[in-house]
Amino acid sequence: MNSIDRLIKIFSDFPGIGPKQARRFVYFLITRHSGYIEEFKKEISELRSEIEMCHECKRYFAKHENSTNNICNICSDSHRDISQLMIVGQDVDLENIEKSHSFDGRYFVLGGLIPILDKTPETKIRLKELISFVSRNAEKGLKEIILGLDANSEGEYTAEYLKKALSPLTEKYNIKVDELGRGLSTGAELEYSDPETIKNALRNRR
Ligand SMILES: [Zn+2]
Repeated sequence: MNSIDRLIKIFSDFPGIGPKQARRFVYFLITRHSGYIEEFKKEISELRSEIEMCHECKRYFAKHENSTNNICNICSDSHRDISQLMIVGQDVDLENIEKSHSFDGRYFVLGGLIPILDKTPETKIRLKELISFVSRNAEKGLKEIILGLDANSEGEYTAEYLKKALSPLTEKYNIKVDELGRGLSTGAELEYSDPETIKNALRNRR
């Protein structure tokens, strides 16, 4: 395998990128000047050192000078409503919901969804961390959990799984569990939903 093929293989592993697109990326890079490539290398190598995972919600965020406690700006914002928690599949979903300015509570990022009938669902999402997050926040006044998951089969399967897994806590603390209303059309992924659709889905949650 030469370096073109190796790089094509790497890009092919990216979400939503097939071999054809991966090949176009590689040929794009080949035609760039050396300064571009240096910048690209630098940004990739700094990604891990400048980004960290929030100890609370598990999203990735850029460290800033005064972030000493590994907590992101959303989790450390005292103006946000701690009675509401939105559970999302991935970081891009959270970012998209934030852009819609329609949710003022806290988040938890699962880090994936559970494929239907998966044998080891607890390894596909951050289940232990979620349970510990919910029990900590139940003590602090959490009243409603919104399952902000994609409107496809994996999203629905994950929602059912979470309802069951969280039921000891939601029953004990009397926490309501809602799903986004299907202003999101069937099959819709949150990542690609526009702000108006997200607003409606939140308003019509059930
Ligand atoms: Zn956070």
